[in-house]
Amino acid sequence: MTDTDLPAAFGFLASAHTGRGRAAPSAAFATRGRHTLVGERLRLQSVDATLVHPGADASRAHSRGADVFALIAGEIYNRDEIHATLGTRAEVSDAELLLGLFEKYGVHAFRLLNGRYAALLAAGDRVLAVTDHAGSVPLYVRAVPGNVLAATEAKVLAAHTSAGRGAPLDGVRRLPGLHQVPAGAVLDIRTDTGAVGVHRTWMPPVHRLLVSEDEAVNLVRTALERAVVRRLPPVGRPLVVLSGGIDSSGVAALSNSAAPQGIDTLSMGTTASDEFPQARLVAGHLRSAHREITIPVGELLAQLPHTVHAAETTDPEIIEYLLPLTALYRRLDGPGRRVLTGYGADIPLGGMHREDRLPELDAAVVLDMDTFDGLNEMSPVLSAMNGHWSTHPYWDREVLDLLTSLEAGLKRRRGRDKWVLRTAMADLLPAETVNRPKLGVHEGSGTSSGFSALLLRSGVAEPDVPAVKARVVQELFDRTVAGGVHPDDIAVDEVVESAAAGVAA
Ligand code: ATP
Ligand code: MG
Repeated sequence: MTDTDLPAAFGFLASAHTGRGRAAPSAAFATRGRHTLVGERLRLQSVDATLVHPGADASRAHSRGADVFALIAGEIYNRDEIHATLGTRAEVSDAELLLGLFEKYGVHAFRLLNGRYAALLAAGDRVLAVTDHAGSVPLYVRAVPGNVLAATEAKVLAAHTSAGRGAPLDGVRRLPGLHQVPAGAVLDIRTDTGAVGVHRTWMPPVHRLLVSEDEAVNLVRTALERAVVRRLPPVGRPLVVLSGGIDSSGVAALSNSAAPQGIDTLSMGTTASDEFPQARLVAGHLRSAHREITIPVGELLAQLPHTVHAAETTDPEIIEYLLPLTALYRRLDGPGRRVLTGYGADIPLGGMHREDRLPELDAAVVLDMDTFDGLNEMSPVLSAMNGHWSTHPYWDREVLDLLTSLEAGLKRRRGRDKWVLRTAMADLLPAETVNRPKLGVHEGSGTSSGFSALLLRSGVAEPDVPAVKARVVQELFDRTVAGGVHPDDIAVDEVVESAAAGVAA
């Protein structure tokens, strides 16, 4: 693996200020990497930033123009289309593309991007804080007159205590004065006053497409192929985290078709349960270099503080989903890898919907697409905590647009969930993989039952389990994100005990 397989930067903390001589703020990221300080003086403001990055140098993550400065954490996937409009060449960095687009289209530049990134642009007397369509790289701001702080991790800003002003947004729960940039949005902030305007750059589609079975299948196959190809490393072998379900198996199959040297696959199970036979079937079919990791249930639960620390969410269900992946990434030693996942396919396809009624299925899709924002499910920090870069082809902007907008009968058909996806992948995978119905949320690696079992063993009454889970997650958030405690210094058992006592009282 070389540096070029990973984005130039994984995260940043930036301060744009109208005063002079401010030092770059210090930052304790959960993201692992080198820190590089950059500073730029514009006509009406200065920017000082800390970049956290995987390679030797982070110069491709920032770019300076005439009275404009751009920073990017993450990567852009529609580079070829941008080259066509800007007349730029392949070696131009993502930061330079961002700058070029901004100089041509102004704030509307960000409507043109398909990527997994958070960005900050300082231009004239304004700062733009930018998320991708899915907000897949979380971005937080704290604005006071004369100083705008932005960071890809909330904990980094929680340390700066001044109260925010002027932002017409919901604050981050339990972190006063801090705001999360919505998914698919640009916060346009006046540096001198802290006044904020919001521009939307993407919305979940609300229309639905009526197309034939064949056309739908072809559209899905083509869009997903492009999304996977755009995410493959330019030189090394891709790693696909493979659970053996249709979502990650589809990504593995398409990666394998496009990667000349083949792919690596990795599956995780626990001592309580695993999907190893299902994953092995796919790995054997694709002849991938396959690896299995088994984690004791106890060790999995010890990852709870790390999961909350990385994902910075207080939603216990999301933390539960993310536990096995946290455990897997933390066990993945060695140089930073580019990791493709099957995350997120169930949201636009209504994969969790277990009966045939289409109005209910579409209502579930609408609800999920309206409520994903701020949950940080796709956060790259989960893997970047251990130096890896994860990317999710099902949440590629074009794939997500397409999957969301297909009419419900193409999603649920002939008694099958995710029918259109299964059919689109049928020629690349074993029939058993294509046809196997979906397991419940993380029935696969047994984490939900594991978290519950831990609580029951600690004497929590069964009906109290959901409330105790919520308290545990909230307490972990307060300690690791708001309080700055390192997750290694937290004893999960003690947190469970105090949460259980709180709920019982
Ligand atoms: P799939 O159909 O691939 O099983 P899913 O909808 O069940 O997907 P989740 O369980 O939410 O997905 O997990 C999201 C993604 O994370 C998976 O598609 C896979 O890439 C990865 N993943 C989850 N659990 C594991 C695991 N135990 N081992 C390896 N990868 C995993
Ligand atoms: Mg699964």
